[in-house]
Amino acid sequence: MRKWRSCGAQASGGSVEHPWVARVGRQRAKVQHRIAIVEDDADLRTTLVRLFEREGHEVRTAADVAEAVALTRTWPPHLMLLDYHLGHGTGAQVVREIRTFEALTQILLVTGYASEQPARALLEELDIQGYHDKSDGPARLMVLADAALKHYRLLERLDRQRAYLRHIVAVSPEINRLQPPGELLQAALTNVALLLSGGHGVLATANSGLFVLDDDGAAEVAIRAASGRFSSVNSLRELPEPFIEAIRDGLSAETPRAHRNGCVLIPLQTRSRDRGCILVDTDELPAEAVEACQIFADQIVQALENVLLYERATVDQLTQVYNRAHGLQRLEEVLRLASRTGDTTSVVFLDIDHFKALNDTYGHAAGDFALRRVAQALEAECRTSDVISRHGGEEFMVVLPATNLDGGRTVAEKLRHRIETLGIPFEGAVLPVTISGGVTAMAPGEIDIGGLLARADAALYQSKRHGRNRISSFEEMDDARLRQVTC
Ligand code: GH3
Ligand code: MG
Ligand code: MG
Repeated sequence: MRKWRSCGAQASGGSVEHPWVARVGRQRAKVQHRIAIVEDDADLRTTLVRLFEREGHEVRTAADVAEAVALTRTWPPHLMLLDYHLGHGTGAQVVREIRTFEALTQILLVTGYASEQPARALLEELDIQGYHDKSDGPARLMVLADAALKHYRLLERLDRQRAYLRHIVAVSPEINRLQPPGELLQAALTNVALLLSGGHGVLATANSGLFVLDDDGAAEVAIRAASGRFSSVNSLRELPEPFIEAIRDGLSAETPRAHRNGCVLIPLQTRSRDRGCILVDTDELPAEAVEACQIFADQIVQALENVLLYERATVDQLTQVYNRAHGLQRLEEVLRLASRTGDTTSVVFLDIDHFKALNDTYGHAAGDFALRRVAQALEAECRTSDVISRHGGEEFMVVLPATNLDGGRTVAEKLRHRIETLGIPFEGAVLPVTISGGVTAMAPGEIDIGGLLARADAALYQSKRHGRNRISSFEEMDDARLRQVTC
């Protein structure tokens, strides 16, 4: 198989531009092919076998139509030398049968006696390479065979390219759906590895990494997804030096390149900016694989732009939980689903106590830091199916699907306790952070979000009035007048 390599001897310069293009022409070492000799004359068969074995090919034989078809099924040859007259059958019969299941095998008819010429129309109909007239001798036969094998390699290459493209099209829905960027990149990378090993045994497992520039394009690169030996690596600094160097060289590359440090880099670029690169830890890849990877990388980067846009629109930048608008949208989705499944949904409002005082005492940066740590703690404590959003300045909403009031209270209390015992260290101090919470539950079928929010808010207000750092549920509120107002 045609391959290209990065070359360790190329000491100067970071990389080799378009190496596979240059190598296609040069790298034409003798390739061993599978040759089938279908011939009922034992002497001629032996002669032909010797001729092709001398050339270094793998040769098998068949003596009649049935044998030829069976051989092709189990061992599809690259080239078949096919006797025109085969005892009880003809070479034409063999061609018609094997073409029903094997398209790539090249076929040369070998005429039965000197000067016999199969009709041009027959060659055309059978879609075969041509015929060899015995009287023309072995030298001409080898010229014809070489041409047929060249044709085979071309078809095989096209076939591989098609397989790569088919793979890219097949995974397109998975790549293009709205999902967190990390998931997209992991899926993308898994598919790069699959693509590269796609049925052709190029790489059994690809050690690969996907390196994405942070949003502001800062010099520090985030490893957003990795496989194989890079899978436990989270920061560029953890990589061996040659890879760091290769990645830095590859980040602004415009085309795929083999790096002198023994890996292949495929750029992730939009029209207007460099997004990063994919690194494959191998020093040889077939040209078609590189080409396919680049096409796939263009798809990945487009999908990445979309999910990043979506993320900016839905995620709170400071705390990385959902923003208010998206939290409410998810709440509505949860309530609609619950009305079909018959589940109760609990909603918890949480508000940091005396946050203004914390800002005033320790500074705004300490406040921001505390907000981030509180959000992280909430995420760590909740299930992934729960929906956490930053509802306002220091206020969070937690939606608990399929959770009744008792469950909601338990979760809210667990969250309150977690924050109380968090101990947020900041510049030598430990920030005193507690939260108050309000819980309410929605029966299946209830969709009135405004009413729900008012209830959770009223319960939260009760926690504040009763001394903070506590949880109240709307359903158990002692203030009947307030309950009436909010309902
Ligand atoms: P309570 O216990 O009654 O909730 O008192 P509180 O001080 O937490 O409540 P209040 O509503 O009076 O103040 C909220 C403060 O939260 C005021 C505001 O400066 C601060 N805040 C809101 N958003 C942010 C933010 O993004 N970063 C920081 N550092 N502070 C914020
Ligand atoms: Mg507060
Ligand atoms: Mg508040």
